[in-house]
Amino acid sequence: TASLGAVDPEIAAVLDQELARQRDSLEMIASENFVPRAVLQASGSVLTNKYAEGYPGRRYYGGCEAVDIAENLAIERAKALFGAEYANVQPHSGASANAAVMHAFARAGDKLLGLDLAHGGHLTHGMKINFSGRLYDIASYEVDPDTYRIDMDVVRQRALEHRPKVIVAGWSAYPRQLDFEAFRSIADEVGAALWVDMAHFAGLVAAGLHPNPVPLADVVSSTVHKTIGGPRSGFILSRDPEHAKKLNSAVFPGQQGGPLMHAIAAKAVAFKLAGTEEFVQRQERTLEGARILAERLLASDVAESGATVLSGGTDVHLVLVDLRNSQLDGKQAEDLLHEVGITVNRNSVPFDPRPPMVTSGLRIGTPALATRGFGAAEFTEVADIIAEALKPGPDVEALRGRVAKLAADFPLYEGLEQY
Ligand code: PLP
Repeated sequence: TASLGAVDPEIAAVLDQELARQRDSLEMIASENFVPRAVLQASGSVLTNKYAEGYPGRRYYGGCEAVDIAENLAIERAKALFGAEYANVQPHSGASANAAVMHAFARAGDKLLGLDLAHGGHLTHGMKINFSGRLYDIASYEVDPDTYRIDMDVVRQRALEHRPKVIVAGWSAYPRQLDFEAFRSIADEVGAALWVDMAHFAGLVAAGLHPNPVPLADVVSSTVHKTIGGPRSGFILSRDPEHAKKLNSAVFPGQQGGPLMHAIAAKAVAFKLAGTEEFVQRQERTLEGARILAERLLASDVAESGATVLSGGTDVHLVLVDLRNSQLDGKQAEDLLHEVGITVNRNSVPFDPRPPMVTSGLRIGTPALATRGFGAAEFTEVADIIAEALKPGPDVEALRGRVAKLAADFPLYEGLEQY
C-alpha cells in the first residue's frame, strides 16, 4: 500500500523530471504523442497483474473474465475504426507486430521487399542486424534521387527482379502518402503478399485524412502510440478472416507469451477516442501544422542558409529537413533545437554523406503539439522559431523565451498526480 514516492523516491523523481520536461518543452518527435489521462489510467492499472495467454474465451489461465471484455472491446473497436474483418491487439509493440506478420506470411530465408532504411524504411523491414535482416532475404527499393518520392515503376522493377514472398509498404521517415493501389497490383503481378506498416500514419487513416490500406493489403500492422496517441504498443489488422488463424498463432505462441492486459485495455480506450470528432479535428491540426512548417522552412530566407524540405513539402504529420547544404549537420541542429526547448530527432536523409550518428537531416512532427492544442497560429510561431534557429547566428535566448510562452499557454496534464 506504500506509494511510489515512499517506496522509491529516486524513480518518483524521474517521473517528476520527465513530466516537467514534457510540460516545459515542445515535443516534435514525429513518433511521439501525449496519451489522454484515461489511457494513462488504464495503462497504470491492476490489469498489469493478469496472465492471459491465449485469446478471449480460449485462455490458458483462469480468471480472465474481466480482461476478456477489455480485449474484445479493443478488437471490435480496432476493426470498426479501420474497416477490418480481423484484428489482433496483443503485440507489445510495433516491432513485435511486424515480427508476427513476417512469421505468418514467410519462412526464414524467404524474400522480403521493403523501403531501404536509409531512405525512410523501418528497422523491421530488413535492417541487417534486426530479426528481419537476419531471418529473411532482403531486397529494397529507394526514393527517386530527384523527387525524393517512391517511384512505383522502380518498385515494380525490383519486385519483378526479386520475386519477393512479401512486399512491405510503410515508413518511419517519409513525408508523402503511398500508392496502395499500385503496391496491390505489383504484389498481384509477382504473387507476393502485401503488408502495409501504417505505424506512423494510422491516426490520419482513422480520421479519414489518409487513404486506408486495409481494403487493399493482405495484412496491416501498426503502433498505437504515434499519430493515434494511445499506449505504447502494436496491433495487426486484416480484411481477410482467412488470415486470422496464422496471424493469431504467429503472435501467440509464435512471438509472445502473456499479453499486456493493461496495455490492451488502454488500446481499447484509445480506439474509442479515435472515433470521436475531437480526434478528427486533432488530426486535421496535425496535418495543418506540418504543412505550415514545411512552407516556413521552404521560405527563401531559410533556404539561403542551406536548409530545405525533402520532396518540397508534406502530405502527412512530419517534415524532413535536408541539411546537406547547411552549416549545421543533423546532430548540431538537433542539439540547437534542444537548447531552444524543441525536441526533434536527427535523421539520415536519402543519399546522406554523413554517418547515422550524425546525419544531415531532421525529422520534425506535429502530432504531440496538436494533441497539446496547437492550431495554425501556434504552429506558425513554432515554425518561425525553428526557421530562425536554423539560420546562422540564432538568438537562442530569445527563441527559448518564445518556446516557454507557447508551452505556458498550453498546459499539459494539469493537476496530474503521478504517484
Ligand atoms: N514500424 C514503423 C514504420 C515504425 O516507424 C516503428 C517505430 O518507430 C515501428 C514499426 C516499431 O514500433 P515500436 O517502436 O513500437 O517497436
